Amino acid sequence: MPLKEFESWAYEQPRIEEVMGEDLYYELISTSYRSPTEVERLKGLLQAFAEAEDDSPCRCVRVANLDVIDMGHHEEEFRTLELVQDRGDTYWWLSVYRCQVCGQGWMVASEERQNDVFCLRRLSDQEFDRVLNEGAWPTDFDRYEDLLRIGLTAGKRVRFVEPYTSSLRWTIADLARERPGIGVSELAQLLNLDCPLCRDLARLAVEEEGVDVDFEE
Ligand SMILES: [Zn+2]
Repeated sequence: MPLKEFESWAYEQPRIEEVMGEDLYYELISTSYRSPTEVERLKGLLQAFAEAEDDSPCRCVRVANLDVIDMGHHEEEFRTLELVQDRGDTYWWLSVYRCQVCGQGWMVASEERQNDVFCLRRLSDQEFDRVLNEGAWPTDFDRYEDLLRIGLTAGKRVRFVEPYTSSLRWTIADLARERPGIGVSELAQLLNLDCPLCRDLARLAVEEEGVDVDFEE
């Protein structure tokens, strides 16, 4: 939850001191929520507390509502998750999973073109049912561009060793298909590329795939 919301939430919990003990509770109410350093420190203390207390056999409670997990370091989180449905076709990256232990539903995007991450979004029971029964998926991961942005926000910065033989050209073409006229500097930012290189790759994508990229901005 956003910091401001958390601060008011913390003050409104009647049993919170009893649950976390006097010392941690003191930290919680005396932290200056405007100081990033103090907030980081408190986060560390709360995390250590939560991990010591958490004896649940699944990891769902530790995954944020919107989270990014590196492929290859995802076994713990996915151990109890069961694939329920793939969206397929245009949305080849999207699936819905359910935790076999706590029943939590997750929409999962597999972003394997650029950053090699899984993006996870917690689903309410209602959202989960709507995906299964009506094929109505939440739109957060609809565009590949959104996945790249989520990856960037989470600090992912992949560099390809051989950009010309990598998947970059296809990703550029896909991004331009999703949003015709997308600017070359925006592509460079999304794909963590230097502008001249991105320009070059975008030209190839335009020539080969007939997509529309704005080089003039
Ligand atoms: Zn679970």
